[in-house]
Amino acid sequence: MQPEGESLDGDTMANAWAGAGVMVNSGPLNDIPAGKGEAESVPAAIAWLEANGKGQGESNYRLRDWLISRQRYWGVPIPVVHCPECGIVPMPDEQLPVTLPQDVEFSGRGASPLAQLEHWVNVPCPTCDRPARRETDTMDTFIDSSWYFLRYTDAKNPESAFETAKANGWMPVDQYVGGIEHAILHLLYSRFITKVLRDRGLLSCDEPFERLLTQGMVQNTAYKNPKTGKYVAPENVADPENPIDPDTGDVLEVFYEKMSKSKYNGVDPKAVLAKYGADTARMFILFKAPPEKDLEWDDADVEGQFRFLNRVWRLVTEYIAVRAHSSTPHPSSAPQQDLGKDEKTLRRAIHTAIQAITEDIEGDYQFNTAVSELMKLSNALNDSAAKESPVYTEGIRALVLLLAPFAPHMADELWHQLGHSESVHRAPWPVFDPKALVVDEITLVIQIMGKTRGTLEVPADSDKAALEKYARESEAAQRYLTGKEIKKVIVVPGKLVNFVVAG
Ligand SMILES: [Zn+2]
Repeated sequence: MQPEGESLDGDTMANAWAGAGVMVNSGPLNDIPAGKGEAESVPAAIAWLEANGKGQGESNYRLRDWLISRQRYWGVPIPVVHCPECGIVPMPDEQLPVTLPQDVEFSGRGASPLAQLEHWVNVPCPTCDRPARRETDTMDTFIDSSWYFLRYTDAKNPESAFETAKANGWMPVDQYVGGIEHAILHLLYSRFITKVLRDRGLLSCDEPFERLLTQGMVQNTAYKNPKTGKYVAPENVADPENPIDPDTGDVLEVFYEKMSKSKYNGVDPKAVLAKYGADTARMFILFKAPPEKDLEWDDADVEGQFRFLNRVWRLVTEYIAVRAHSSTPHPSSAPQQDLGKDEKTLRRAIHTAIQAITEDIEGDYQFNTAVSELMKLSNALNDSAAKESPVYTEGIRALVLLLAPFAPHMADELWHQLGHSESVHRAPWPVFDPKALVVDEITLVIQIMGKTRGTLEVPADSDKAALEKYARESEAAQRYLTGKEIKKVIVVPGKLVNFVVAG
């Protein structure tokens, strides 16, 4: 493998190249970037081997023998006894489950504390009834985490781990959320156990989890003294723009790091909840980054979400105050025909938001862009010139419904204030109307020799001939084309008409 831009001339290289490179001296693979990705050397080599009948690709799971026993009290007892006559004997079903004794002493010495409990350890052999000893190791917690989701499907079953019919009814898990630290061992073990249970006819699914989301970490600013290696608490940094260690006078390094007590960069959720409430905290976390990305804590952005929720509160309560005194209540669904220009513009904003937020939630969990759409809808309502229209009522309802998954407490309160007795979380999700997005007028640009001379609102479905006609009759054309010879007319449908004139 050769680093890009370096020669293979050995004596000019001070160190072995450890980065990504391209293939050399590899026949048909020369110049291909080294790696396992698409268009990289590993799949290319496999393809070549397969094409030439010299080998084939294979997935290698590296699942090695797995030592599941631990010398610990806290764990599931391994239900076997050691008999001097019979060897290792499984406990019969009627003696299961083997439970942990309560009278254990933690000495910190020797083997598992279970080994010290003679009354628990000494049992008759289930096969020959001679004195035998229980296994005192317990199972690794990885065993439990490999099938715990199956227990959720039948959590109170006293007879068995789960009933196959119930597990088959629920499984596989639709969406699994976990930290990246689980992405290898736990998930591999879970899949392994699932496949074993399937092979034994205890489960019908092949894979335990349909979808995995590995969420990012919450990070915050940490100040580190590069000389002492010690972290300094933010409240001891006088000027965050120019951070100095108050004890040593050294210039501090600034990092965004995973929150931790030792780095003094944790944020107490209780303080955020007390100052802004849970809805603001949720909105901030959802808005700041997509869930799979690390999230940088930012007090200004928390404040920003607080202000946004306050704007929504004002918007909805002002609407309620006005409508409460209105003698003409609006219907629960807005009329869709004979709408004015402002009503159409607002309705388009409402249904753009419904469509985008629905897709953001159901698709790749892009909650941050969903919150952006809520902000756009709130602005569109605020700026609307159609506040008296039933379309505005439709917009206020949609805003509260769309807000509900993100700021559940406030949305529920506003929903009640809007006159509903049921919770907003039981109300149907708003239905997207594609017709609301249809634009029936476009702005046509009128150009003379490529220079914009005016614009014109024309029906969106106008064909080329109609657009040229509108353009020729426009005020701009009348003004600039009088007495000139038109050599050519260029029509770009939906956009512009350009007149090319002589000399
Ligand atoms: Zn025995």
